[in-house]
Amino acid sequence: MPRERIPVAVLGATGAVGQTFVRLLRDHPWFRLAEVAASERSAGKTYRDAVHWLEGSIPDDVAEFEVLPCDPAALRARLVFSALDAAAAGPLEPAFASAGAFVFSNAKNQRMEPDVPLLIPEVNAAHLDVLEAQRALRGWSGGIVTNANCAAIAAALPLAALHEAFVLERVFLFTMQAVSGAGYPGVASLDILGNVIPYIGGEEAKIEQELPKMLGFVQDGTIRPALFAVSSHANRVAVEHGHTVCLSVGLSRRVSADDCLRALRDWRGGECVRGLPSAPARSMLVVDDPDRPQARRDVNAGNGMTTVVGRVRPDPLLDVRLVALSHNTVRGAAGCSLLNAELFVSRGGLEA
Ligand code: NAP
Repeated sequence: MPRERIPVAVLGATGAVGQTFVRLLRDHPWFRLAEVAASERSAGKTYRDAVHWLEGSIPDDVAEFEVLPCDPAALRARLVFSALDAAAAGPLEPAFASAGAFVFSNAKNQRMEPDVPLLIPEVNAAHLDVLEAQRALRGWSGGIVTNANCAAIAAALPLAALHEAFVLERVFLFTMQAVSGAGYPGVASLDILGNVIPYIGGEEAKIEQELPKMLGFVQDGTIRPALFAVSSHANRVAVEHGHTVCLSVGLSRRVSADDCLRALRDWRGGECVRGLPSAPARSMLVVDDPDRPQARRDVNAGNGMTTVVGRVRPDPLLDVRLVALSHNTVRGAAGCSLLNAELFVSRGGLEA
C-alpha cells in the first residue's frame, strides 16, 4: 500500500467509462483523482458543466475541477486512466507514455501489440512483465497497459479456469451486450427499445483475437497467444448494464460437464489480487439456479467486479456450455483498469 495517495488523471473523463472512473475513484484508498481531461469541446469548462452525469451524483470536489485538454504538457499525474474514444486514443495514449505517464487504457488501439499487456490480474498477471521490454523498445519513460474488450472480459474468467484445467481447443460464443457498452449517448432509443441488433462494429474480431492473447504466455518480452480458435456473434440488447455471454467450449480431452463445474468452482485465480482495493471477495461466482445469471439481478455482484457464471451443462456439439455475465463499465472497463493499476503499483511499477 502506498504511503500517500497517488495523484491520478482520467482522460475521456466525461464519457460513460470516464464517469465510472470518477465514481470508483471517490474514496479510493491508494489513488486520488487530481485531474480530468476530455476533448476540446469540454476543455476549460467545469466538470459539472462538461459532463452529462449518468448515475448518482458527481463527487462534490470533482464537480468543480476544470476539464483539461488531453495534452501531456497540460497534465501532471504519472498514473493516467484512459477512457478515450479510439480515434483520440490512437495518437494520445502513446504521447502520454512517451512523456513519462503510465497509461491504463480501455481503447482498442494498442491491445493486440505483442509488447502491450492485455491485463486481467486474475488471469494473466505475468503479462505485466512485458512492460519493461515495451518501454525499452519504444523508448518510452512511461508505458501502456490495456484492458480487453468488455464482452471478451466476461468470457475470460471462466475460459481461464477451463484452459488451466483442460486446455481449450474451440470456443463458440454469442453475446448479449448492454447499451452502456456503446458509450453516451450510444444507440438511439428508437433503434434498441424492443429490439435486438445483431451487429456491433468490429466487436466479433476483437473478441476472437483478444481471448487467445489474454490466455497466452510471455516469451522473450512479448505475449504469444494461446492456440485455441474462437467464433463469436455479437448482439446489442435493450439492457442498461451487463454483458451476457453464452459459450460452448471444446477441450483438448474428453471431460464431463461436472468436471468443468468443479474446475470453475476450484479456480484460484482470485488469489493473486487479494489485498488490492478493487479486488472483489470472489472474482468469479458460480451459481446453480437454472435461470441465472441475469443482468438485472447479478450485474452488481462484487460491486460490479465479480463475473457470474451459471448453466454449466453438457454440450451436444462441443464438450460443455455455460453462461457468463459481467458489468461492462466496471469489470469490463474502469474497475478492471483500477485493478490493473493497483497490481502495477503493488509490484513497485511507479518506482521504475
Ligand atoms: P464515450 O461515452 O463516447 O466517451 C468518450 C470520451 O472520449 C469522452 O470523454 C470524450 O470527451 C472523449 N473524447 C472524444 N474525442 C476526443 C478527442 N479528440 N480528444 C480528447 N478526448 C476525446 O465512450 P465510452 O463508452 O466511455 O468508451 C470510452 C473508451 O472505452 C472507448 O475506447 C471504448 O471502446 C472503451 N470501452 C468502453 C466500454 C463500455 O462499456 N462503454 C467498455 C470497455 C471499453 P467529450 O465529452 O469532450 O467529447
